[in-house]
Amino acid sequence: MAEGQCNCGAVGFEFEISADLEGVIVCHCSICRRATGTNGMAVVLADNNAFRWLRGEELVTTWKKPGADWECWFCPTCGSPVPGTNDPARMFIPAGTISEGGDSLEVIHHIFVDSRAGWDTICDAGKQHREAFEG
Ligand SMILES: [Zn+2]
Ligand SMILES: [Zn+2]
Repeated sequence: MAEGQCNCGAVGFEFEISADLEGVIVCHCSICRRATGTNGMAVVLADNNAFRWLRGEELVTTWKKPGADWECWFCPTCGSPVPGTNDPARMFIPAGTISEGGDSLEVIHHIFVDSRAGWDTICDAGKQHREAFEG
């Protein structure tokens, strides 16, 4: 089991990373860049039944971008991104929120590489996808 929390600690969770995608996926799209203020969003995926809120689920706030299939989930007190719905079967967990159980993780996929920022140089062995994740 891995554990994570937001910066203020109000929201906490534990999870097991999906066996079929056991690594970090980095999205370089412009929406993720604005959401984090960095080069994108690094996440891991967990099956719904392998994820549990430890505290603060009721605090989690969401914002859906109009016209886009994209929603951000965050702690309203400290602003940290927190886990949210990735697809009907899985949750995404922002990789930077992991406090325990993430030491051996490596980046395995980069998505929306074609729209990354000009200053964003990819230097690891993760597989690069020009747009969305193909599976
Ligand atoms: Zn917080
Ligand atoms: Zn993105």
